[in-house]
Amino acid sequence: MTLREMVSECNKIVFFGGAGVSTESGIPDFRSEDGLYRQKYDVSPETMLSSDYFYTHTEEFYRFYRDKMLPLEAQPNAAHKKLAEWEREGKLLAVVTQNIDGLHQKAGSKRVYELHGSVHRNTCLSCGKKFSAEYVARGKGIPRCDCGGVIKPDVVLYGEMLDDDTVNGAVKAIGRADMLIVAGTSLTVYPAAGLVDYFRGKYLVLINRDVTPLDGRCDLVLHEKVGEVFGKL
Ligand code: NAD
Repeated sequence: MTLREMVSECNKIVFFGGAGVSTESGIPDFRSEDGLYRQKYDVSPETMLSSDYFYTHTEEFYRFYRDKMLPLEAQPNAAHKKLAEWEREGKLLAVVTQNIDGLHQKAGSKRVYELHGSVHRNTCLSCGKKFSAEYVARGKGIPRCDCGGVIKPDVVLYGEMLDDDTVNGAVKAIGRADMLIVAGTSLTVYPAAGLVDYFRGKYLVLINRDVTPLDGRCDLVLHEKVGEVFGKL
C-alpha cells in the first residue's frame, strides 16, 4: 500500500516530527552528517543547551543560541504546508513536534504540541513579562527585561522537564489517531521518542533519511526526504 492510499483512507492523522522536518527549510538538525553535533565546538552542543549551562554561562549560551538556534528567516517547506492543509480539511488531528522553530504555525497549523517549547516564547525570569524571538535575536549579550531580569527562551533545555499539558495533549492525540506519520527524527531524545508507543491505530509510517529504532515496527518506511515526499502527495 502506498502512502497516498493510506492517507486517503484516514482522517485522524497525527504527525510526529523532529529536526529533519526543517532541514529542507535550511535549519540544520543535530545528528546528521552536516548536523550541529558534527561541527566542532569547545563545549558540546548538549552542554551548551543544558539548563546548567544557561544559568552558569548565560552569555556564552546566548552566543550559541543566537548563532545556531534562531533562524527567524526560515520558511515552511512542503511538509509543513501539506500538514496545515490536512488540518484545514479535517484529516489531521494534530502535529506533535520536537522542533522549536515555529515553522508549523508559520505554515498555518493550529493544533501543534511543541514538546520542547518554542524560540518564539521568551520570559523574564524576574517578572514574567513575555518577549518575541525577534527581541531576543536583535540584542547583544544577555537579553534583559525593562525590570533588569534575565530573559529565558521557553525552550526545554537538557536537564529540564517537559510541560505536562503539552505531553498529555500529545499522548491523547496519538492515542486517538488512525495513522501516525513519524518523520525527520532519530528517535533518540527521550521522553519525546517514547510517545510513539501510545499509537494504537491502523498505519504507522516512518519517513526518515537514516535508519531509526522504529523502522522494524512500521507498516511503511521511506528513507527519503520528508519535504520531497510531502511535495509529491
Ligand atoms: P536529530 O538531529 O537527532 O535527527 C534528525 C533525523 O532527521 C536524522 O535521523 C536524519 O536522518 C533525519 N533527517 C534530516 N533531514 C531530513 C530530511 N530532509 N528528510 C527526512 N529525514 C531527515 O533530531 P531529533 O530527533 O529531532 O532530535 C534533536 C533534538 O534537537 C530535538 O529534540 C529538537 O528539539 C532539537 N532540534 C530542533 C531543531 C528545530 O527546531 N528545527 C533543529 C535542531 C535540533
